[in-house]
Amino acid sequence: MTAQLIDGKSIAATLDEKVAEETANFKKRVGRAPGLAAVLVGADPASEIYVRNKVRRTQKAGLESFEHRLSAETEEAELLALVDRLNKDEAVDGILVQLPLPSQIDSARVLNAISPEKDVDGFHPVNAGRLATGLQALVPCTPLGCLIMAERQFEKIDGVESVVVGRSNIVGKPMVQLLISRRATVTVVHSATADISAHTRRADLLVVAAGRPKLIGGDQIKPGGVVIDVGINRLDNGKIVGDVAFDEAKEVARAITPVPGGVGPMTIACLLVNTLTAACRRKGLADPACTPRIIATR
Ligand code: NDP
Repeated sequence: MTAQLIDGKSIAATLDEKVAEETANFKKRVGRAPGLAAVLVGADPASEIYVRNKVRRTQKAGLESFEHRLSAETEEAELLALVDRLNKDEAVDGILVQLPLPSQIDSARVLNAISPEKDVDGFHPVNAGRLATGLQALVPCTPLGCLIMAERQFEKIDGVESVVVGRSNIVGKPMVQLLISRRATVTVVHSATADISAHTRRADLLVVAAGRPKLIGGDQIKPGGVVIDVGINRLDNGKIVGDVAFDEAKEVARAITPVPGGVGPMTIACLLVNTLTAACRRKGLADPACTPRIIATR
């Protein structure tokens, strides 16, 4: 069997168009565009590329983009002062601080200083707690993008046997919460799991976010399963690969995301959705139609 490719680029382009339409409506009602402030500290080449792509897509969808570039020597207090100014800036609806931050800065302290209502990355403990307890939240973009792609592969996610590889705060844990909110049956495995294959082989939905190239081979995938590969790994030869051995996996799975061109474009699409959503909520407007309904149901 050769798996269907889950085309993240094309799904993301459709989502971007919806955001653009609803952004135009927001502009008419509020008199300004939703604003996203992106903060980049230092000149990490990968972060530069991510921020450039985010700014380009933000502007293309008609949102206002504010870029703040600080030197690698920036002190934590200076960054916290910038976050404070952005929290108070009426034209800014979403704040994104690109990770990783230089070692002199405590990332958690900075992320926790972002106002939860402008936390479009969904990393603030208030948003994590709200997601975990089934309240309205801003949801981390990468797992949200994975959920949107996964939902297109199943009639409904209820009860789907799902395995998440990785338990980080930015991907694995919120992915688990999102799947639970959709009433999937979820197992999470990580570096202390004795036999990962025993779990991954029974996954009808497998989401892999470990940051280890070729961690999951074809023999670790359930025939006919759906595989979502979050990993982005740069090999010594410069090639970008995921965490799944794609060539083997595509012969076993029913559907699989490519790397690049799978989860990555969806992450940015969800950032735009979150910025528009945050803007609407701040203005007391109903959530836009493109905002996925995440609130847990019984
Ligand atoms: P982290 O390093 O924060 O977390 C990795 C997780 O994987 C940890 O929970 C770790 O377990 C687990 N893990 C590591 N090695 C193994 C192993 N050999 N077997 C089983 N589990 C393992 O990474 P992130 O969650 O931040 O990112 C994961 C990947 O996703 C990276 O490649 C990153 O670049 C990519 N990414 C892609 C995005 C996109 O837009 N496409 C966005 C964000 C991330 P333990 O906790 O026990 O150490």
